[in-house]
Amino acid sequence: MNSPYVTPILKSTDEAYDIKTFTFYYPGKIEPGQFFMIWIPGVDEIPMSVSLIHDQVKGITFRKIGDATTALYNLKKGDRIGVRGPYGTVWPLEEKMRQSHEAMNRMVDTVRLIERDGIPVKIVSGGGSGTYMTSGLVKGMTEVQAGGACFLDRFYGEECHMEDEFEYALTVVSTITSRPIPERAIMDAGFKTMSDGESGNPLPMNRPGITLKYLSAEHGNLELEPEAQGLAIGDRVEWKLGYSDTTTFLHNHFVGLRNDRVVAVIPLLARGLLT
Ligand SMILES: Cc1cc2nc3c(=O)[nH]c(=O)nc-3n(C[C@H](O)[C@H](O)[C@H](O)COP(=O)(O)OP(=O)(O)OC[C@H]3O[C@@H](n4cnc5c(N)ncnc54)[C@H](O)[C@@H]3O)c2cc1C
Repeated sequence: MNSPYVTPILKSTDEAYDIKTFTFYYPGKIEPGQFFMIWIPGVDEIPMSVSLIHDQVKGITFRKIGDATTALYNLKKGDRIGVRGPYGTVWPLEEKMRQSHEAMNRMVDTVRLIERDGIPVKIVSGGGSGTYMTSGLVKGMTEVQAGGACFLDRFYGEECHMEDEFEYALTVVSTITSRPIPERAIMDAGFKTMSDGESGNPLPMNRPGITLKYLSAEHGNLELEPEAQGLAIGDRVEWKLGYSDTTTFLHNHFVGLRNDRVVAVIPLLARGLLT
């Protein structure tokens, strides 16, 4: 671990009532998207993204939130901070597009070789939710495997920041089966119905005051705030999913809705098959 580079604050700018930008001399290289560990002597060391890169002068822009950021906020021009880094990975979009095009084109070249030997290739499938914007443009590809983006779930929406581009299209609807006490409800959906765990737990949609405590195999245990305690046996709760892939394979059909009307029932033909 490198030790902090101790450097004075060159300039302090108020951006809003609780947000400041500090600039400081730091000779090391850092790319947009990377972050420093900023040491506030005697207080703490905290991560801060770089917000200004001007040759050897760098900057951070931060909000006063707790002890460390408040102590940082109270520093003045000439006070010293420690700077360690840079940290974080740089992954420029142009490079990502170049690499994914290269990989897809190799596959399409292979398809052409197979076809030249008289074997028809009807489906050329690849890519994923993270590369749909580039793989879909490769000539010769017939399918992009962007299920997570197309359905959207908490993993792709929140962790992969795709919420701004896509809507949550895939949900599971459960029914309340038991109301043992005012603060608790039991529903008929457990982890045999929708996945939970590392990719994020399901979240109730448009139902304030409901928290999922846990999913057992066939039931879900819900905690209810007073505003949700009108929930009755037979009521339906719609769930935003943690991870769509590990939910769809548990079901026999997609039920397609448009304007609250069922317009299609699509069988999940690959259900239960090995991948
Ligand atoms: C990689 C990385 C880059 C970061 N870059 C920046 C940056 O450029 N600018 C910046 O202002 N912050 C940035 N942060 C967040 C910053 O590191 C934290 O705000 C800081 O560590 C909080 O320390 P504290 O002692 O002031 O607050 P704490 O006492 O640790 O937190 C006080 C309370 O505020 C909550 N909290 C902490 N941070 C935030 C937040 N950002 N938004 C909402 N609630 C929060 C905590 O959960 C806690 O409840 C970054 C964090 C990471 C991991």
